[in-house]
Amino acid sequence: MTTQTSGSTVATAAVVRNVGGPFALEKIDVAAPREDEVLVRMVGVGVCHTDIVCRDGFPVPMPIVLGHEGSGIVEAVGTRVTNVKPGDRVVLSFNSCGHCPSCEKDLPATCSQFLPMNFAGIRLADGSSPLSKDGQPVHGMFFGQSSFATYAIARAVNTVRVPDAVPLEILGPLGCGIQTGAGAVINSLKATAGDSIAIFGGGAVGLSALLGARAVGVTKIFVVEPNPERRQLALELGASKVYDPRDGSDIEAAIKADSGGGVTYTIEATGIPAVAGQAINVTAPGGTVGLVGVPPPDGQIPATLLDLLVKGVTLRPITEGDANPQTFIPRMIELYQQGRFPFDRLVTKFPFDKINDAVHAAETGQAIKPVLVF
Ligand SMILES: [Zn+2]
Ligand SMILES: [Zn+2]
Repeated sequence: MTTQTSGSTVATAAVVRNVGGPFALEKIDVAAPREDEVLVRMVGVGVCHTDIVCRDGFPVPMPIVLGHEGSGIVEAVGTRVTNVKPGDRVVLSFNSCGHCPSCEKDLPATCSQFLPMNFAGIRLADGSSPLSKDGQPVHGMFFGQSSFATYAIARAVNTVRVPDAVPLEILGPLGCGIQTGAGAVINSLKATAGDSIAIFGGGAVGLSALLGARAVGVTKIFVVEPNPERRQLALELGASKVYDPRDGSDIEAAIKADSGGGVTYTIEATGIPAVAGQAINVTAPGGTVGLVGVPPPDGQIPATLLDLLVKGVTLRPITEGDANPQTFIPRMIELYQQGRFPFDRLVTKFPFDKINDAVHAAETGQAIKPVLVF
């Protein structure tokens, strides 16, 4: 890795130096943006489950600055950046290569380089990082942003301009968690009025799937979630019925009865293999199971090939809601402004320097979507 010292900006960043270690606030140097890069002063950043699993050892190099649901104001742009300019309000989303077959078809969520572009902690072009401390490199470019910091380097491809009349500090989660849930329903499953959907897991992604389903007029929405406060919120956000998977009742029979024989679509947002089996079982023949939750590395689909053939169910793994952030984030903001996508109901704000408290609140279920405010 190389570092750059001229024209750099000093930032306060939450650095993780060891697997499982705390987010420690440190002063770091953020290099000036290269030709396709954007320097952003952060205003808010969401905490996503993926930040926590990366802190805890999902293969990312350390030391690293995590954070991938940033929102802020553009400070400087590289010479080839045309989509944003200094002073613009922006949301940062996931990184993509821009030239593989998926990217060329406007489907960056299935970019062939998705894993290295988002998790390698370096610029793929030359292995460098824009971040350093005392001349020593610190890994950055996490999801093309590393936005647990007062300043971040993003790329033009994952920097999305947003309108002025929306609260910028809470918009960051539109770039990952909320896009993942809402996009799964709207873009991947293409659910619409008259469809029915069962959502397993009422965290940030599952409740965003519920918001997406409401926004496109899905008629029957069933949410399975053990936390009673989240079940209550699901009802307030428009769920037709909620179920407690720990109350000992037969959830599958209940959803089948309540949906008239099975739902058109399911969203599996827990990553628990046995729950994926329940999702398959409550889906009507011809329906589709959207697999959104991140499973354990050795997780298997709990169904036989014959099961799938007899049931006639499609399994659909979904990353980032199959969204192109450049078009889907503005769509979600428009729905929000119309009162049809109240994602702010999922947000709990924390000051940036309380990042470890915010992560703890996410881990214990006290907060659905913590957002750090700078
Ligand atoms: Zn690509
Ligand atoms: Zn995420």
